[in-house]
This record gives sequence, C-alpha cells and structure tokens, in this order.
Amino acid sequence: MSENKILLTEKEMPRQWYNVMADMPNLPKPPLHPATQKPVGPEDLSAIFPMELIKQEVSTERWIDIPEEVQKIYRLWRPSPLCRARRLEKALDTPAKIFYKYEGVSPAGSHKLNTAVPQAYYNKKEGINRLTTETGAGQWGVALSQACNFFGMECRVFMVKVSYEQKPYRRSMMQIFGSSVVPSPSNETAAGRKVLAADPDSPGSLGIAISEAVEVAAQREDTNYALGSVLNHVILHQTVIGQEAKEQMAKAGEYPNIVIGCCGGGSNFAGTAFPFVYDKLVRGAKIRLIAAEPSSCPTLTRGRFGYDFGDVAGLTPLLSMYTLGSEFMPPSIHAGGLRYHGDSPLVSQLLHDGIIEATALDQTSIFEGAIMFARSEGIVPAPESAHAIQCAINEALAAKEAGEARTILFTLSGHGLLDLPSYDKFMAGKLEDFPLPEDILAKSLQNLPKI
Ligand SMILES: *Cc1c(COP(=O)(O)O)cnc(C)c1O
Repeated sequence: MSENKILLTEKEMPRQWYNVMADMPNLPKPPLHPATQKPVGPEDLSAIFPMELIKQEVSTERWIDIPEEVQKIYRLWRPSPLCRARRLEKALDTPAKIFYKYEGVSPAGSHKLNTAVPQAYYNKKEGINRLTTETGAGQWGVALSQACNFFGMECRVFMVKVSYEQKPYRRSMMQIFGSSVVPSPSNETAAGRKVLAADPDSPGSLGIAISEAVEVAAQREDTNYALGSVLNHVILHQTVIGQEAKEQMAKAGEYPNIVIGCCGGGSNFAGTAFPFVYDKLVRGAKIRLIAAEPSSCPTLTRGRFGYDFGDVAGLTPLLSMYTLGSEFMPPSIHAGGLRYHGDSPLVSQLLHDGIIEATALDQTSIFEGAIMFARSEGIVPAPESAHAIQCAINEALAAKEAGEARTILFTLSGHGLLDLPSYDKFMAGKLEDFPLPEDILAKSLQNLPKI
C-alpha cells in the first residue's frame, strides 16, 4: 500500500452516528439542576434545546440515523481525507506508521461543523428560527454561523470581548455568513449589564458569554441555544470522524494500536475515539485511546472527578466530569479552544473507568511539533490540533526507542490559517509554558460544589 491519501466515496459515508452510551460499563451520573440539585428532566432543557437533541442527550440506542438533509450538507466536505504522514515518519526516523484524519477541510476549517449542521437542522425542524451561542477564539461561532446560513436561520453570537478585538478575522467569517456578533459582556442581557456595572472594561470570558447566550435563548420563544462541545449529543454527531477513519484504515489494510485526539471539551477526541471504544469494549480490540490536553489547563490529568457547574455564574446544570473548578481561570494560552475547566461527562467517565487515557503537553512543545508537521506534511495546524500531533510524535519516538512497529492514528481537528499571530509569537521566542501550579489548583478545587 503506497498511497498517501485514503479516500472514501460519498456512498461509503456513515449513515448513522455511534452512541457510546449503548456500550459503556458505567453511564455518567445524570446532570443535576443547579438550584434543586435534582436530576434535570427534558422539561428543564426544552426552554433552550429542541426535543430531538434532548432525546439524543439521554439515548442509549447504539446507532442513531443521520437525517438525509444533514448528510446532504456533510457531503459538501465529507468524507474527509485520511492521510499517511510518510514525510513526518521519515523526519522522525521512526518505525511507526502515522495516519491523520484531516477535519480542517470543512468550510469552517475545523470539525465543529459536524455538529453545528445537525444542531441547526433539528432546531429548524422544530420551528426555531434563531439560535444564540457563545464563542471564544471563534471556531464554534464560525461553524454555527455557517450551519444557520445553510438552513436560513438567524444566529447571534456572543463573542468574548478580547477575542472580538484581537481576532477580527473569525468575526468577519461569522458576519459573511450573516450572523450578528456581539462583544461580551454586552448591554443586551442582565448578566452582561451586571458585569459591565462592576467593571466597564471587562475583557469578558467564556463563562460570561455562555450566561448571556443562555439568557437570551431562555427568554425568547423563537430562540434556542447551541453548544459546540461537552454535551452527549455534540459528541454523538462527531462520531462520523472515527467511523470514517476506521473504514479508511481498513482500506489501507491497517488497524491502529494508538488513537489520539486533542481535548478541550472532548468532542473531536471522542468523535475519533468512540468508534474504537466500541471495538475495545464489544470486540476486545487491544488499542490505546489518548486524549491530549494542555499542561496549563490539565482537566483530565490533574482535575477532580465529580459534579461541577459548566459556567462561572453557576447557571448551567451540574455535570459529572473531571474539572479544575468552575472558577478556574486558565492562562491565555494560544490554543484557545482547549481552555475549558471541565470536560465531556462521557470522556470523563471512560477515563475514570480506565478505558481511555490522557496526557498533558506544554505549549512550546506543541508549537515545535506543529512546525515540524507543517514542514513535512505542508499543513499549518490549529494550535489545538498541535496537541494531538505532539502526542503522536512522542508515541512515534517511543516506538523507535523500543524498536517496535506501531500504527498511530490522530485527528487533525483544524487548520491554523487564522492563528498565524500565535505562530509569530512562537517563532519570535515570546511564548512561555504555564504548567499549572499545585497551590492554584488546590485552591480552585476547594470551591467545588458539595454534592
Ligand atoms: C474547538 C476546537 C477544539 C477543542 O474542542 P473539542 O470539543 O475538545 O474538540 C480542538 N480543535 C479545534 C480546531 C477546535 O476548533
């Protein structure tokens, strides 16, 4: 097999999403209402989510059909390519075979469109014409803007104010697709006004932006809210990545020993790894599944497993997950998409049960890996995705050390063409590592809600 790129035809695309909840030995504990601490029911969520997504959130059906209208839009860029990184292998002088699944070919430039499209679709089908959301660095805001545009829906994005000012190009992208983008904190919501009253120059945060987007969606009958990671239905939609990759590996006559994804809220890692979790749990496959996270925001490797809020204000349901504490303020590292204090409850439970593993990487090492990858494979990766690259490089070097063949698969979740200022900083020697100090972590964990 000498091909570099293993493609699938549109006919070979998955027609169902894979739901790992059908096969987990232990399901995550249910989300709890923030005020009553009782499990949340569908009626609690129906103010901001459509019923079909609420059903997917709790479903234990193994396979869930992908609607034809969603498949039609997926076909604009899916199936995405699987590539053999032969030039990277050579540069590392490793006996390991390295494959990567490239999600940067989506119009949004990342995997996030895989869930934005079905989320917009189900809302539209249930008569909702307007969505709100928050975005930090802007990848999720761009994906949801594109999805709303495909279905003729309005989209209002609360964008963290510092990003709004410092990352103008993703804002332009959202506006091209017809979204209105509001710097958060804003005067449009009670949550935003409260923050501005205390600090008119507040740079904003993801937690504040979530509070604003949820507030607007809860108040208006015609408006719902959409989240780009963490929740079960989001992860379900992302399983197209791993299912395609498995088909493509089979076409290449290969099966991975190691599967890797970078991990912020967990959606691209889970989307890649969960179809292989099926092999591991149901068919006894021997395979390592590794989530790669930043050492400055080490949720899975150093966080605590328990209930915590999803946002700073404590408005969202309590989720059972690994967390650094909802008041934890991650340093402003250059992989903005990985700066979340918590993680997906599904990823967290599987880690807790020893079915997957996690590793943490320093910011400067991931940029070194990113540049090595760019120079060998020709793609400038998103700084988030560079965590998966560096983890794959470490595993390939370990294979060399051990003198053994290994087959490594990782997902390249997005391209970095709108992240060039971060590369400039790295090349100018201005990036530093921020391993999380133990005392700051201990202090943050003291404030976890007592359940
Ligand atoms: C948002 C984002 C991530 C992190 O989110 P997950 O839900 O953990 O996948 C990773 N890579 C890219 C390119 C992103 O845009």
